[in-house]
Amino acid sequence: MERRARLFIVSGPAGVGKGTLVSRVRSMRPLLGLPVSATTRDPRPGEVDGEAYHFLVEEEFQRRIEKGEFLEWAQVHDHRYGTLKSEVDACLERGESVILEIDVQGGYSVKRLFPDAVLIFVEPPSWDTLVERLKGRGTESAESLALRLQTARKELEQADTYDVRIVNDNLEEATEELARTLEKYERN
Ligand code: ADP
Ligand code: 5GP
Repeated sequence: MERRARLFIVSGPAGVGKGTLVSRVRSMRPLLGLPVSATTRDPRPGEVDGEAYHFLVEEEFQRRIEKGEFLEWAQVHDHRYGTLKSEVDACLERGESVILEIDVQGGYSVKRLFPDAVLIFVEPPSWDTLVERLKGRGTESAESLALRLQTARKELEQADTYDVRIVNDNLEEATEELARTLEKYERN
């Protein structure tokens, strides 16, 4: 059966495992496009500019908003994050599906522009598991952790507005479910 390239949006609270799931699916399907977003937050240890994100100072981010370089951007936690049109175009030009790992506000913005985009929400099996994972990742200060958990509560309430919900409990199973979801929509 024909497979067509689709635009997928993966959202969910910080620490739920979005990055882990997407990178596992991409190791199965290396051509799947993952545009690099821009952010005003500082890089975490090990994060490379241009790979994890394009790390921009406030003024540069603002300049790019004014030049119309973003497909969407949003204030998430205490910083700005945005999807660069140039990054999405480069991925789409290859004719492969594209995954945007962005927050719920960004997800809605993209869905308005591309009604055919598929909204996928990743949920934790429980609140305590989410807290454990976020703490276990060891990347956040106490302040940043509290802020992410506060945002997480609001995001989890919006899960039922998404097209697909995946509970990331067992990593193998959730990876399979994400891979199957992509295939299902590509054949639709
Ligand atoms: P996000 O991208 O949603 O912020 P990450 O992918 O960074 O989340 O995952 C947060 C932490 O949880 C990481 O330390 C990751 O290894 C761990 N993790 C992800 N999925 C699972 C899972 N199914 N079971 C246990 N730990 C997980
Ligand atoms: P982190 O700081 O943990 O890397 O990301 C925080 C949040 O920002 C995540 O929920 C992630 O989905 C969101 N995010 C990352 N890139 C973008 C983007 O380009 N646009 C929007 N709207 N959100 C993003």
